[in-house]
Amino acid sequence: MEETILELRQVSKSFGGQPVLREIDLCIQRGEVIVILGPSGCGKSTLLRCMNGLEETQSGTIRFGGEALTARGTDWRQIRQRVGMVFQHYHLFPHMTVMENILLGPVKAQKRAKAEAEGQALRLLGRVGLADKKDAYPRQLSGGQQQRIAIVRALCMNPEVMLFDEVTAALDPEMVKEVLEVMLDLADQGMTMVIVTHEIGFAKAAADRIVFMDEGRIAEVGDPLSFFEEPKTERARRFLRQFW
Ligand code: ADP
Ligand code: MG
Repeated sequence: MEETILELRQVSKSFGGQPVLREIDLCIQRGEVIVILGPSGCGKSTLLRCMNGLEETQSGTIRFGGEALTARGTDWRQIRQRVGMVFQHYHLFPHMTVMENILLGPVKAQKRAKAEAEGQALRLLGRVGLADKKDAYPRQLSGGQQQRIAIVRALCMNPEVMLFDEVTAALDPEMVKEVLEVMLDLADQGMTMVIVTHEIGFAKAAADRIVFMDEGRIAEVGDPLSFFEEPKTERARRFLRQFW
């Protein structure tokens, strides 16, 4: 049965009077993989950041698991534990080992027992092929490895939704695949994900729905086959032309 996990209704936001998000309506079902596409500056990052409270919205409502987040009294720290986010730049602490980086959230923020969290971290590291790196420092790892660690760090908080903002954009081409494979694996496992990317092949393979944004609006939503084969808007057609 379908269950809405994140629901945005008429969400708008501006920066200094400049509208950046305009009346965004979007319902995300548990287990769904949404890929957000759109030209640079159209509001993709801002939209993701609104979904876990890193940005405030000016109007509209965002509901997470039925609870309105824009209501006063929202516990944003708790929401950010339930909605994990991975960025283009992985922000691992350079003076901490891989394991120390990963355990920061589960042990410090979630107050979980260290041994239990460590067990989970090791399992997750194994899943992304990096179990042998647990005692390494970030500078000893490639960009692709660091980004996989950043994903593990977010997963170790047991989030219900994962947001990915151009996580492969800063990586050398040969490392892009290893990170996308981790995300495909998560999709297969049923993780709910909202992914901003320019990796069209990945979007085709992983997305249940494509959300195409333009100038702060959702210009088009569709399943990947229809979107890539027959985009409905001229703007999407023009956007897609750069990839072939
Ligand atoms: P995208 O991720 O699609 O490239 P962004 O969400 O980063 O787009 O930005 C959308 C628009 O909002 C851009 O015009 C950008 O310059 C502006 N913007 C983003 N963050 C801020 C900010 N903190 N202050 C002012 N303007 C911002
Ligand atoms: Mg962005």
